[in-house]
Amino acid sequence: MRGESHLLVSILISLPTSMVLFNLLPSESFSAIIYLLGGVMIGSLLPDVDASDAKVMHGYWKPIGLFGKYLFYKPMTWVLRSRSESFQEQHRGYLHSLIGCLLAAVFFAIPIGVIFLVSIFLWTVPIELASLIWYLWIGLPFGFLMHLFEDSFTKSGVRWFFPRGKAYSGQTRTGKRSEYNLTSAFFILYGLMTIFVWMQPASYELLLGTILGSILLLGVLYAVNPIISKLSQ
Ligand SMILES: [Zn+2]
Repeated sequence: MRGESHLLVSILISLPTSMVLFNLLPSESFSAIIYLLGGVMIGSLLPDVDASDAKVMHGYWKPIGLFGKYLFYKPMTWVLRSRSESFQEQHRGYLHSLIGCLLAAVFFAIPIGVIFLVSIFLWTVPIELASLIWYLWIGLPFGFLMHLFEDSFTKSGVRWFFPRGKAYSGQTRTGKRSEYNLTSAFFILYGLMTIFVWMQPASYELLLGTILGSILLLGVLYAVNPIISKLSQ
């Protein structure tokens, strides 16, 4: 799936839950939700740093792409290769798996921690303000997981349990009509869900229901994706 689609779909999946959080939490928490969404956006582009033609390696996103590639992906690949002779560097390799998500979450605690400490001790930023950066870190693995789900809709699929297990795939072709139609289906369904939850009185029950509903809708879209792809031919 293309970078634009990953960004859009990941924001769409997060939108109903974000809307309930906006209604539920006091206005002081708004910045935390924005940071959380920022983390989701970065996380949703991160797995593709293993491909040089990915969106994250160009334009505004390039600093994140270069950072992810040379300070995370390449050193991690070097470690894995030194442990196993047979290890092959490849697009949709370990970075497109649960282990890649876990490694990214653990690794990114280091730069986020450095920014946090520098903000407090060097730039004398108040601790409440500096702590917001940790929400970026919390959002990151969620965005990463969304990327894996989104790529699971495509023909190449995702080996979630790399290096073991099969690839979970779908019928969507990257950059083709089936991808645009799938993205439109995400847009319509998650858009309607966002409007629906926005009109409800905010509560923690609604928050839980929205999270579960968002996951369920993802499953429904995966189930009907063969039909979407067939209609796209
Ligand atoms: Zn990908």
